[in-house]
Amino acid sequence: MVSITIATHTGFCSGVKRAVQLVQQSLSAHKGRVYSLGPVIHNHRVMEILKKNKLHLVSSINNIKPGSTLILPSHGSSRHTESKARQMSLRLVNTMCPYVSLVQKICATLNRDGLQVLIVGDRAHPEIKALLDIAPSARVITSIKEIKEDAFSGKRIGIISQTTQSREFFINVVNTILKKNKKVSEAHIFNTICLDTSRRQEEVKGLAGLVDVLLVIGSKTSANTKRLLVIGQAINKNSYLIESEHSRFPTVIKRARRVGVISGASTPSWLVEKVVEKIKKYGGSRK
Ligand code: SF4
Repeated sequence: MVSITIATHTGFCSGVKRAVQLVQQSLSAHKGRVYSLGPVIHNHRVMEILKKNKLHLVSSINNIKPGSTLILPSHGSSRHTESKARQMSLRLVNTMCPYVSLVQKICATLNRDGLQVLIVGDRAHPEIKALLDIAPSARVITSIKEIKEDAFSGKRIGIISQTTQSREFFINVVNTILKKNKKVSEAHIFNTICLDTSRRQEEVKGLAGLVDVLLVIGSKTSANTKRLLVIGQAINKNSYLIESEHSRFPTVIKRARRVGVISGASTPSWLVEKVVEKIKKYGGSRK
């Protein structure tokens, strides 16, 4: 008999929950004329449902009919998109998470005060692109090897983080910057990793050490899900990303006595439940 332990922090985070609710409300209010520039959240199953409910995904704002509703994503959007949307008289529904908007405010303040803004995050992520709109001279740091000796010496710097960044990596970057730049004249450090991300990262560490197999449920396109997987794998090599109940399950699960389950922030609880039901078919029972 396999015992299944489900992490406390599974299902949507507060920001994603709010974003999905806002989209659903818009779909009911403005039937057939609600658009999004790419996925609103990084979960295929949820996006499939929203598309069935007539959310139109487009790659360019030029493909949106004037007077329609445009959903702005939870992790921010570019200023260009917002001003173009206003010119086109689009109705904007901003699903930006309050944590993301707080990071934007901090970024704007640091930039306005003349500090060199350093952002710890992934350059290609929409959240970081939106921050670069606010502070065009900001530097994005994605790896430790990018941090050169004396690059910021004599400067006033402000360090912020992508909301879904790994806490260990953020601390490592901050320490390396300060070690390699002993003559920084002023350093303002803001740990802007959101509370939900921090909680899941702490929980996955504990859970990975307690179980034979760890399943992290979420889409391969979800940055926070992949980060949970990396943290889990560092502790337990039998850690796997499972997108849904239809995914290929690792064969090791058949021999496991204890299975741990956690999800990314954009994975709905009902999808977690479906995966748990599938584990039960391997002889599992919930703890
Ligand atoms: S992961 Fe954090 S920042 Fe992102 S939507 Fe959820 S609560 Fe907001």
